[in-house]
Amino acid sequence: MSKTIYITSGKGGTGKSTFAANIGLTLAYMGKRVILLDMNMGMRDLDLYLGVQNEAIFDVYDVIMRTCEPRDAIIHSTFVDKLAIIPAHQGGNWIDISRADIDELIEHLKGEYDIVIMDGAPGINRAVDLCHSSADEVIIVTTPDYSAIRDADAIEDRLIKNEIMNRHYVLNRVMPVSDDLGCGPSLVEIDLRFRSQLLGVIMEDENIRASCNIGIPIVAKRDTYIARNFDKIAERVIREI
Ligand code: ADP
Repeated sequence: MSKTIYITSGKGGTGKSTFAANIGLTLAYMGKRVILLDMNMGMRDLDLYLGVQNEAIFDVYDVIMRTCEPRDAIIHSTFVDKLAIIPAHQGGNWIDISRADIDELIEHLKGEYDIVIMDGAPGINRAVDLCHSSADEVIIVTTPDYSAIRDADAIEDRLIKNEIMNRHYVLNRVMPVSDDLGCGPSLVEIDLRFRSQLLGVIMEDENIRASCNIGIPIVAKRDTYIARNFDKIAERVIREI
C-alpha cells in the first residue's frame, strides 16, 4: 500500500530538504517508486539538490491550480528511474489552496508511486497544517541544538493539537563524540524531550554542503557512512512506517 510522508522542521536550515532528497533517493535505490513534492512554496531547493533545476516547466502550484496535468510537472531523476520530483513554485501562495486540493493530488500520485514524500516549509503556518493533515506520517528533522529542539517542540505541540499521531524525528548533523564540544544537549536528553519516536541519526559531514551545491545527493555515492545512515532510516521507513 502507498504511503505519504510529510517532512517538516521547526527551525529553518536543519537539513530538512537535504534529508528529503537523500531519503527519497535511498528509498528508490531500494526499489520503491518514490515521488518528492516540494511544498515549500517560494523557497524551492529540492530541484537544486537533485540537479534538475533547469528542467522544470510546470510545478506543484500549476498542478494544484490545474494549469497542467500532474504528469506535465513530473521530472524524472537522472540517478535512478524510480525517483521523480515535482518542484515547488518560486512564487505562488497558499491562500488559493485547500486541503481537498492536496488530498486529490496525493490520491492521484498514490496510484503510481509507493511513497509520496512532501518536503514542507519550516515553522508553523497554514501551509504546514494543510500538508501534514494529508500525510500518513510526519517526520520532523532537527539538529542537536537547543534552539532547533525548542522549535521542534513547538511543531510537536501543533501536530499533537491537530491529532497527528504517526510522528517520528530524525536527528541530523550529529558530531562524532571525539569532535563534539559537549555544550549542546545530550542525545538522551533530546530523546526524553521528544514525544515522537527517533527514526534515525545522520552524522555531520562536510561533503553534504558540496553535494547540495552541485546537485548530486550525498547518497549517490553508495559506500560512505552517510549512505549507511540513510539506508538504516530507509529500511525503517519501509518496515515500520
Ligand atoms: P532546510 O531544508 O532545513 O532549510 P537544507 O536541507 O537546505 O535545510 O540544509 C541547510 C544546509 O545544511 C545546506 O547547506 C546543507 O548542505 C547542510 N547540511 C544538511 N545536512 C547536513 C549534514 N548532515 N552535515 C553537514 N551539512 C549538512
